[in-house]
Order: sequence, then C-alpha cells, then structure tokens
Amino acid sequence: MLTAGGKGSTAVHAPLTLRPTKFKKAAFEEALAVQKPFNTLYHNVVRNEEWLESVLTELAKFDPAFSGRLLDLHIKAKAQRTQPLTAGLFRSDYIVHSAEGKDQIKQVEFNTVSVSFGALSTRLTELHNYLIESGIYCDLSIESVPKSKALYGLAKGLADIDGAYRAQNNVSGTAVLAIVQPGERNAMDQRLVEYELFDSYKVRTLRVTLSDVQELVRKTDTGRLIYTAGNTEISVVYYRSAYSPSDYPTEKEWDARLYLEVSHAIKCPNVITQLAGAKKIQQLLTEDKVLNTLSQDITPDEVALLKNTFVAIHPMDDSPQGLNARKLANEHPERYVLKPQREGGGNNIYKESIPEFLKSLPESQWGAHILMELINPAQSTNQILREGRLYDGEIVSELGVFGTVLWDTDSQKELINDVPGFLLRTKLQSSNEGGVAAGFGCIDSVQLVD
Ligand code: ADP
Ligand code: MG
Repeated sequence: MLTAGGKGSTAVHAPLTLRPTKFKKAAFEEALAVQKPFNTLYHNVVRNEEWLESVLTELAKFDPAFSGRLLDLHIKAKAQRTQPLTAGLFRSDYIVHSAEGKDQIKQVEFNTVSVSFGALSTRLTELHNYLIESGIYCDLSIESVPKSKALYGLAKGLADIDGAYRAQNNVSGTAVLAIVQPGERNAMDQRLVEYELFDSYKVRTLRVTLSDVQELVRKTDTGRLIYTAGNTEISVVYYRSAYSPSDYPTEKEWDARLYLEVSHAIKCPNVITQLAGAKKIQQLLTEDKVLNTLSQDITPDEVALLKNTFVAIHPMDDSPQGLNARKLANEHPERYVLKPQREGGGNNIYKESIPEFLKSLPESQWGAHILMELINPAQSTNQILREGRLYDGEIVSELGVFGTVLWDTDSQKELINDVPGFLLRTKLQSSNEGGVAAGFGCIDSVQLVD
C-alpha cells in the first residue's frame, strides 16, 4: 500500500497475519456455494426496478444529499439508456457465528460497488503457501491452505465483460476505464488486477479520478466513450470510487458520474446496482415475503441456504417492526450494531453507544438506519504484522466471497454468474470494525479445519 503522507512514491506492506487462521471447512465451502444464488438474488433486486426504486425513494427522504442524488441520477440516466448490458464485481462478507457448539456463516453485508482486496488476498495466500512449501511452517500442509484466485478471477471477469462489449459493437482494442480516488493508498490492489488484465488478455486499463473524467474522456454522438489521448474506446467503466459522499466534493464529480452513466460503455456497476447494495435492501431481503417474491431462478434449496446466512435485521422506521426495534435498541443495545446507509467503514454504531447516539438524533431520522443483531465470532489467536511491527492477540475474522456478473436488461438474462475467489480479513478482537484500508484490520488466509 502507499504510505499516508508519501505523495505516491513510498509504500509499506499491507497489514497481514503471519500465519493462516483456522477456519471451519464446512463454513468455508458453504460461503462459496451461496455466492451464485446471491448474485442471482441481486439480479432479481435490480430487475424488479419499480420495487427497488420505490424502496430507495423512501430511503432517499432521510438522505437527500447523497442517496437521493444517486437515485435522481439513475432516474435521469434511465431515460437515455443505450447500453442494455450491465456488470458487477461483488463481494459478500461473512463472520462465522458460534453458538451451541455449531458454526454457521452469517452475512455481514453484500457489497455491489468498489470491492477491494481481491488481488492482495491472492498475494497473501501465495505468501503463506510459500512459507509452508519452503518448510518454514512445517506444521501446516498446503492442502489445508487454499489459494485465493481472486486476482486472476476478477481480471478474467473484466476481460469477459470487455469481450461482451467488443462482440456487441464489433470493435477491438478497447480499454477499461478505472474510476479511482485521488491519492488512493490501496492502489496496488487495483494495479495488480490491471496488470493481470493486460498480461493475460491484452486489455488495457486507464485510471482516472471522477474530477478528471470530462477532461480526459470524450463522447461520440452515439454515446461511445473515447479516452482522448490515444483515441481508445472504453468498453467498461470500473468503479473503485464514487460510493461515498466524499467522492463527490463538487458538482463536477456529480456531472462526471451522469456523463459516464448515460454513455454506451458497460458500467461496473451502474447506479441502480450500486444502490441495490444499500443496507436497507439487505434488511428487506431477510423478510420472507420479500425474499419469496425475489427468488426467481433460485431453487428452494438455494433459498434455504441463503436464509441460513441471515441474522435478524430490523428497520428503525415507524412501522410496527421499527417501533419494536427501537425498543430492542434501547433495552438490549449490547446485542446490536446500528448501521446508516453508508459504505467504506467507520460509519456503524456499536452496542452500548447506540442509545446515546439515538438520543442525539431527531426521531424522524432514525428510519435511515437498520438495527442488526451482532454475530458472535469464534475467536482465535494469530500475530498481525503492521508497518513492520508485530501485534499479538485474540483475533476475529471475516470471510469475503467475490462474485462476477453480467446482466442484459433487455432480455432480463444473466450472461455471467461467476465466483472468482475469496478474501479473509482479520482484526484484533478489541476493535469493532474490520476494514483493512480504514486501518483496523489486516489480510489473512484460511487454514481449513474440520
Ligand atoms: P461497511 O459498509 O462500512 O463496510 P459493514 O456492514 O461491513 O459496513 O460493517 C463494518 C464492520 O463492522 C464489519 O466488517 C464487521 O467487522 C463489523 N460488523 C458489521 N456488522 C456486524 C454484525 N452484525 N456482527 C458483528 N460485526 C459486525
Ligand atoms: Mg463492509
């Protein structure tokens, strides 16, 4: 990773565990097995556009300046849509819940935009495998430490999406436009995907910030995006930014998002798919009535597997369920985490801080949040290496499983549904949040145990 004050010229290793962390094999396999049905479930969310828009319209009332603007942008762009294909690189995150001697993966959240650490997870599992194979960790066998193929899988996903654009438009030599944050510290995680995409598929990636888009990328009269220097046609707009209010400091960035959204390039993801990743949607999917109406093309067995991964999530609005949740939040805050509709870490309110936080907020704003039961993770021990220093302690881990999708909005068909790999993130038990980039956690690999 780049260092914080290094102006892009100095780097430090990403925080990592010295050894793989023990992980139940059955739980690991279950997480991989539910990814395809989850990809399809989110396809169903997005293709039930009227329902999704109505939920988001209610939500936008609490957050007009961000969620509301994204929704408006989607509505505006929809009228001018010329590209039926839409893509996603997703990641579903789980913690293994331990209760009554049973271990079961429980979903933390489903991410539909800017998922990270695929490439570094591959590097880390390769590092741990190297340490095992070279005899340094003689108590471990490489069979028990699966390599994450996420780096290769995500690059292949982008190559497939680029390929779909080329075939659709009978063009060649197209490139991926990566929308990145200025001063991104996690740039290597992105660069590795970029280089793999070029090495294996000869597809270039051009990196721009939202602020620079309209200066560097022009549009033809049929809406095709052309990177002006070199006259390169853009097949895929790949977002590694644009998910948080700070990514839109001025009107220029909002204009750029709309400019890209109404272009002919395939968006990965488009705005409505990004919004489908709202925590409110995750909450609604735990309601049987909603899940049943959104389970087209998912078998009943798969629906049962999806449901197994859910913990209780409550609305905080003024519906009867919401009123009950407000009571729970005040009477048993130690069981819950309160989440606003934000991405990227550092936004949640945990346990005993919940009542005080709610008191500080007008009741009319409570509905902007969801109340989620805390998952009780199995603890383990490991050593974390951060900026060259070792930290010992009790740790908890979170497994992420990646998904690649390509959907056709005209035929409503799923053209790609893949599972490119996984990621394990670990944090010291003492910190509530697990985001690696946000500075709380580190990357890890799994040692499968029975
Ligand atoms: P963000 O969109 O900010 O990444 P998350 O929902 O992933 O928000 O929450 C951030 C972190 O908080 C997670 O990585 C996890 O460590 C912790 N967390 C979130 N929900 C739960 C939960 N239900 N039980 C236990 N820990 C949780
Ligand atoms: Mg998260």
